[in-house]
Amino acid sequence: MSNLTLDRRRFLLTSAIVGATPTLAFARAADPYAASPFRKLADADWRQRLPEASYDVLRHEGTERPFTSPLLNEHRKGAFACLGCGLPLFKSDTKFESGTGWPSFYDAIPGALARKTDTKLAFETRTEYHCAQCLGHQGHVFNDGPRPTGLRYCNNGVALKFLPA
Ligand SMILES: [Zn+2]
Repeated sequence: MSNLTLDRRRFLLTSAIVGATPTLAFARAADPYAASPFRKLADADWRQRLPEASYDVLRHEGTERPFTSPLLNEHRKGAFACLGCGLPLFKSDTKFESGTGWPSFYDAIPGALARKTDTKLAFETRTEYHCAQCLGHQGHVFNDGPRPTGLRYCNNGVALKFLPA
């Protein structure tokens, strides 16, 4: 092996390490719940911890039937938290009557949700969102909500629990 080849390898290796460090740091900062014990639970653990309907929505992205959630009529002051892990996701003052049959909010608590694009329906792309801590599926967000955000977080009631203020 010539010295030139060896130097080139050293150079590439060094570049890879130097280049990788900021990326990893960024990934860690972007996901403050990466080390959460909730992330380590297996599917069977979740099945045991959650009521069946909640398990189906949170862990298998199911959708509850509209107009079935008792939280539709929850109008007290407080917060709506993830049923899977207890992280507060929405404040009661961002809840509004959407008429859809699912609890609806026009804003989320900063940092509480993680999003991904859902392409399950071929005719439209919906943005699905998850609890940022346990990654449990909560619902979909649309652009037809009221002011000031114009957003409509359409949430499954079985994935939430209400925490009175
Ligand atoms: Zn959660």
